[in-house]
Amino acid sequence: MPDPRTDAITCGDTEDDAKVDPVTLSRRDFLTAVGMAAAGFLAGCSPEVREAYLQKHFLELSPPEVEARLGRLHADYAKRFGTQVQVSALPAQPGVVFGYALDLSRCIGCRRCVYACVKENNQSRNPQIQWIRVLEMEKKKGIDFEAANPYYNPEQVPDPEHFYLPVACQQCRTPQCTRVCPVGATWQEPDGIVVIDYDWCIGCRCCMSACPYGARHFNWGEPEVPAAELNPNMHVLGNRPRPRGVVEKCTFCIQRVRAGRYPACVEICPVGARKFGNLLDPESEIARILREKRVFVLKAELKTEPKFYYFYGI
Ligand code: SF4
Ligand code: SF4
Repeated sequence: MPDPRTDAITCGDTEDDAKVDPVTLSRRDFLTAVGMAAAGFLAGCSPEVREAYLQKHFLELSPPEVEARLGRLHADYAKRFGTQVQVSALPAQPGVVFGYALDLSRCIGCRRCVYACVKENNQSRNPQIQWIRVLEMEKKKGIDFEAANPYYNPEQVPDPEHFYLPVACQQCRTPQCTRVCPVGATWQEPDGIVVIDYDWCIGCRCCMSACPYGARHFNWGEPEVPAAELNPNMHVLGNRPRPRGVVEKCTFCIQRVRAGRYPACVEICPVGARKFGNLLDPESEIARILREKRVFVLKAELKTEPKFYYFYGI
């Protein structure tokens, strides 16, 4: 059966990539090219296959259609993981734009944020996907991405010669990733969170090529999340288990923050290096940090305008 999500490969492919994914047709191409013949083909298919080809973009769904999609996801995940899950489609709240700040003077490079993020967001254990990377950098060189080491493994952290710079999706105000997506499968929500419709993504990886922060990850294999470790509190545009052949990334823990909670990485950080809140609320901690500290963003010259800020608290 053709998989509409692994079709139409263009951006970022190498010769080896092309061998991994057979080039067939995208969902739209399929419907256009096959035309009336598709009707006959689909009539003979299972309801799941028909739905895969005929479903709408998430933003085009009516409220009852959203409910229907959530219902199908509940049933699918219950069958797959043998447990009840809650998939929400909680929308952005008016008057909220989320922002993040990271105190580089506090981070000790322990990677607890990485592991908490994997668990909270149902990231694949095998093949391993991690939305947060912590980069080790030499104090004497300062911020230098060329010389950064994401694979550091000393006896203990922090290493006195180094500092640590965690990176994930920067939730850009002018994201390059959304501009290049050929099918509009990724977009910025009103609260500033850049999301992906996993049912609409065709896996072309254009967004990965366009992102200057290496923040997006592709599911080359069938993602593996042990049933016993599944986080059953999910958002349809966030941490619900992804299929093979789609791109994923940090969503500021959309399933938590839209329900008034902190992202998992903020909660777990043992030294309070991570700050989060509503940029539009002048009383929020994030707004105060932006007012009072000398914050900076990564690769500012690219004009992506991240809503992820770094600062030195001391
Ligand atoms: S949990 Fe906090 S201290 Fe540890 S690596 Fe992440 S940001 Fe740094
Ligand atoms: S960091 Fe990359 S993936 Fe995240 S919004 Fe910016 S361009 Fe898109």
